[in-house]
Amino acid sequence: MTEHTTGRVDHEADLRKAGIRITRPRRIILRIVSETDDHPDAYEIFRRAVKVDKNISLSTVYRTMKLLEEHGTIQRHAFAGGPSRFEHAGEEHHDHLIDVETGDVIEFRSDKIEKLQDEIARELGYDILHHKLELYGRKRRSA
Ligand SMILES: [Zn+2]
Repeated sequence: MTEHTTGRVDHEADLRKAGIRITRPRRIILRIVSETDDHPDAYEIFRRAVKVDKNISLSTVYRTMKLLEEHGTIQRHAFAGGPSRFEHAGEEHHDHLIDVETGDVIEFRSDKIEKLQDEIARELGYDILHHKLELYGRKRRSA
């Protein structure tokens, strides 16, 4: 991946290198996914995209998400109980807590959990290549 000095990943440069044409709708969709951390679904991305360019269709969004996913630019999450949600790739590893009532996705990272997973895998004779941890919860009522 191409990284700027700021550490930000330049997705457009990576895609161009892979021979992908950056059309206006693709650029708009890419920006939307890159600039948010709320893990929107395709319809929500569409809703935001038409505000920028009313000619963008929902099927363009679906096709673009598929293309970007295939090139590792974005990550698809199939959280239970809803449509696929997306976020841009290349962020530091983190896990997700999904609020089952609001659908909010909260990112977290625990060195304790990461270490424990490594230990468990090692005991089973494995090195972990990647993992996904999803917690499903409801906000506690009392403070
Ligand atoms: Zn995330």
